Amino acid sequence: MSYRILTLADIPKYLASLKEMQNIFSDFNNLEVEEVGDGNLNYVYLIKNSKNTQETVVLKQAVPYLRVVGESWPLNRERMTIEIMALQKEIELCPEHVPEVYYGSHEMSLVIMENLSSHKVLRGEIMQGKVFLNFAEHITTFMAVVLFKTSDLYLDHQTKKEMVSKYINYDLCKITEDFVFTTPYEKHETNVYNPELTEVDLNFIQQDRELKIAVAEMKFKFMNNAESLLHGDLHTGSIMVNENQTYVIDPEFAFYGPMGFDIGAVIGNLLMSYFSHEHRQKLLGREPYVYRKWLLNTIESVWIKFAEKFEALWIEEQLSNPQLAWNYPEGEQHFKVLRERFIARLFSDTVGFAACKMMRRILGLAKVADIAEIQDLEERARIERMTLKLGKKMVIERDSIKDIAKVLNLAKELSPLV
Ligand code: ADP
Ligand code: MG
Repeated sequence: MSYRILTLADIPKYLASLKEMQNIFSDFNNLEVEEVGDGNLNYVYLIKNSKNTQETVVLKQAVPYLRVVGESWPLNRERMTIEIMALQKEIELCPEHVPEVYYGSHEMSLVIMENLSSHKVLRGEIMQGKVFLNFAEHITTFMAVVLFKTSDLYLDHQTKKEMVSKYINYDLCKITEDFVFTTPYEKHETNVYNPELTEVDLNFIQQDRELKIAVAEMKFKFMNNAESLLHGDLHTGSIMVNENQTYVIDPEFAFYGPMGFDIGAVIGNLLMSYFSHEHRQKLLGREPYVYRKWLLNTIESVWIKFAEKFEALWIEEQLSNPQLAWNYPEGEQHFKVLRERFIARLFSDTVGFAACKMMRRILGLAKVADIAEIQDLEERARIERMTLKLGKKMVIERDSIKDIAKVLNLAKELSPLV
């Protein structure tokens, strides 16, 4: 079938035409289709059989332009090809944290997947002050497994290179290169600022030589370090949760890049949530300590558990498959030094990328609701300044920030945990 943009009215008939849907829906005459999604890029529909609401799917279709802006901003719909391939690879490696895919069509640029009907988007849940005790455990399993098992530490040299070429993602990498690593750090027409931020606040980022050099270095790493298959956009809006389960959705930015970019996305977004809850907990009528402490503990666990799991996978692979893996002439001691240096370098990348992810959400086009939806603009600006200060310090000093406790201390210096 050649590409066409589906409408609400078309969807039941379209689903009925697919053999993959015959096992899911007992009939197609009573389908309710609802458009969901704060989707900036794509159309996402929730479909239910009104006679049996257990029969349900989500359909996501990419259109050949940037949806928030409209047809004047063309964006290759082949991003859905990447999204489908990335979902399939993630399902193969870590099925417990990825929605099941029932059908994908590269021609139609759409995917039909499991409706995560008892889960909600993590960002919204965090904004409401909800705690998820298993989140750090789950997201670190996902990241450790996917990042390790798509890297040269696990794959043979040819498979890895085939993967790199399969996941080349020109358009969406360009969006990141521009909006995460370039425009927020200059006076650019696409930037959007809280009017309460002053010229001094903007220049603190946009006119600082050391900062610009550091961000340029992170950008170059992003563009050149084809280490692993990244999710590419792993903020709290790409994660759906309930108390027991965690799912990663929306991998349309997937490509082969530096591992620290995904880990940094999770940590950077949680740091912004921490700052935002200086204000939000008051709105919720609570004492801020308990929830913000949970956020800091979660950030700490995300790094520590990730590093432990990643290292464990590496050791296991080395033991079970020594001829395929790397050659360590001086045995265990040599291997241990390599691991330690590797993880230390990965931490520095994580800190640097987390910082870019934070600063761009304050000065760039795309915001995070945690901060941008704070109605009191002065209060919002106060929290934005903390975010910018932490981001600047983290990216410039990423090599001398040796552990996650140091990052948390810097956050607490700017926004005391009381
Ligand atoms: P976009 O790439 O356009 O941002 P997303 O993949 O993030 O789209 O989906 C937009 C929204 O649709 C999500 O925030 C979530 O609310 C909803 N959604 C997406 N996938 C699912 C799913 N599998 N189950 C339930 N809801 C989903
Ligand atoms: Mg998306």
